[in-house]
Amino acid sequence: MSRKKSGQAKRVINRWFKERQIYHRSDGVVHFISMSTRTQIALASVIGAALLWVAYASVNVVFKEQIIVAKERDRRVIETVFNKRLAQSQRAYDDVSSLNVIMQREFDATMAEISSRHQTLKAMVERKVSVANDLQALSKSLSEAGSPNGQKPANGNRIMIDVAPAEPTPRQSRVSMLRRQAAREASLQGAQIPLNSPAAPALQQMRAASSELYVEQVLLLASLEERASKKIDELKLILASTGVGAEQLTTAPKISNLVLAQGGPFVDPSNVSDINSAFFRHANRAALVVDQLREVQNAVNSVPLSSPVLVSRKFTSGFGVRRDPITGSAASHQGIDFSAAWAAPIASTASGIVKFAGVRAGYGRCVEVDHGNGFMTRYAHLNRIVVRQGQKVKLNQKVGELGSSGRSTGPHIHYEVMFRGQPRNPLRFIEAGRYVFES
Ligand SMILES: [Zn+2]
Repeated sequence: MSRKKSGQAKRVINRWFKERQIYHRSDGVVHFISMSTRTQIALASVIGAALLWVAYASVNVVFKEQIIVAKERDRRVIETVFNKRLAQSQRAYDDVSSLNVIMQREFDATMAEISSRHQTLKAMVERKVSVANDLQALSKSLSEAGSPNGQKPANGNRIMIDVAPAEPTPRQSRVSMLRRQAAREASLQGAQIPLNSPAAPALQQMRAASSELYVEQVLLLASLEERASKKIDELKLILASTGVGAEQLTTAPKISNLVLAQGGPFVDPSNVSDINSAFFRHANRAALVVDQLREVQNAVNSVPLSSPVLVSRKFTSGFGVRRDPITGSAASHQGIDFSAAWAAPIASTASGIVKFAGVRAGYGRCVEVDHGNGFMTRYAHLNRIVVRQGQKVKLNQKVGELGSSGRSTGPHIHYEVMFRGQPRNPLRFIEAGRYVFES
């Protein structure tokens, strides 16, 4: 078959390019050129190639314009596609950066709120701690008073005023109520998050974390408030046991006004977000209670709860009607008597200012201390006085030495407590002071 084909081709070639002789005459001489098949094929190939080149060049020249236009069109298409892509990615970039701006703004606002609330809480806690420290100092001083007969309480410094920071434990019902309320307040914060925004999940997460923190902060305030009111109740109980109630020493409505006027609001309610103004209400409520605690504590500070003799002593005579040791007839005893070692130190039973230091008829060498809030104490029959009139004295500070000056049958201290000029039974006060440790 292939042999048949190659034979056919050979026949075609032999027919087209059979050997030829070309004759030509010049100057009467005839020449002839013989052209073999091979030469003819080579010549035909060269001519053919030249023809093809001429054709291509002609087409190129004729269609040059069209080619350029086509190329330009292609270029434009590519450019358009490229620009479209570029615009798309620019938009995507803008979306991302505006998202970042939104997130950043939200984050900054949330942080500012949390930080402002944190500052409030910190100030609040410091306020409470300073009152607690004062109370602790008082308890410590009173612990030295011990029992009326000089021995220290068996359980040492066990104090009724529990000033050590305990677990915040506001009542359970109140906690859940507050938790709900705070969660409601927290849910009002910020603008609505568009649900289709790509930032929505992140923003929601941030809000949730912030809300949780808000609830915790509100509960912390509540526990501060709770502990402060518990302390107030305890102190009022101590005062009540002296026979002089807290209501006689503090004026609650005036205190509240004073707090608002002086201490002022913890947080400036203007210029804060809704959530922080809600927090402001919680904080001010707690601040009011803490300041009330301070008031009650100041009142307690003016109450002579200690014993005038801190060393070993013997309670020898009570308050009220008794047989007069000198005349033998019935007489009112306006104080109580202790006997102790000669020149034993006699101490002020609360802080105050020395109103009198000298000799008084019947009392002998005598010191009187004004403690404020209507309280005064008198220390009589002293051997020696170590303070002068107008001097400030602290709780348990020595004012003199035990003696037997004045109308006295032997070395002892006659001690009086007066409230608004009326003598009160000093034993009730000393007992109340003990109650601080022993109850
Ligand atoms: Zn007496």
